Amino acid sequence: MTKLPDLNDIAAKVTHCHNCNLYKTATNPVPGEGNPEAEVMFIGEAPGYFEDLQGRPFVGQAGKLLDKLLQSIKLSREEVFICNMLRHRPPENRDPLPEEIKACEVFLDDQIKIINPKVIVTLGRFSMNKFLPGEYISNVHGQARYVDFAGQRYIIIPMYHPAAALRNGAVMDKLVADFKKITTFLKEPEVETEAPKQEEVKKHIQLSLIN
Ligand code: URA
Repeated sequence: MTKLPDLNDIAAKVTHCHNCNLYKTATNPVPGEGNPEAEVMFIGEAPGYFEDLQGRPFVGQAGKLLDKLLQSIKLSREEVFICNMLRHRPPENRDPLPEEIKACEVFLDDQIKIINPKVIVTLGRFSMNKFLPGEYISNVHGQARYVDFAGQRYIIIPMYHPAAALRNGAVMDKLVADFKKITTFLKEPEVETEAPKQEEVKKHIQLSLIN
């Protein structure tokens, strides 16, 4: 019931955030957006040029691809939640610095706890490494894993970043195929409380349990 006000509260905090220096060069904060009741949450890297201008995540070329990928599995932006590791654009779209990720992670952590999605899809290596430190996307993309985070068990599906897919056709094919796996998990009941169902899931998808 209180999800929307709580998410709005985070967005307001992002707007005034001075936890790192990125606010000084950014045009607008990009707190993230979507359905407070989303079953799927997508976490990218950081706002780019168009996101910075509009204050919304994934609205440039990578965002258009994300929209098409969502359509391909019959989901819309309105049904999911989309955000980034960083909430202000790094200058020239450079990679996020570790201290920026640390300074910004309170917003992401609180959004995850409030939304409590069934599935978290990480887009690119920075969000993957939050949940799967030390892994390489080329090794684990499309492989769902259980990860315990803040007292809850989440299904994490690491995927290539859409911007990487736009640069490389082979990566695009992998991202398109990996996306199809998302719906398999949404059809399943809460897997962690339904032990027999876990076997069902494993039949469909390569699923590794960690912890
Ligand atoms: N790339 C990202 O990682 N996030 C965006 O919001 C846009 C492009």
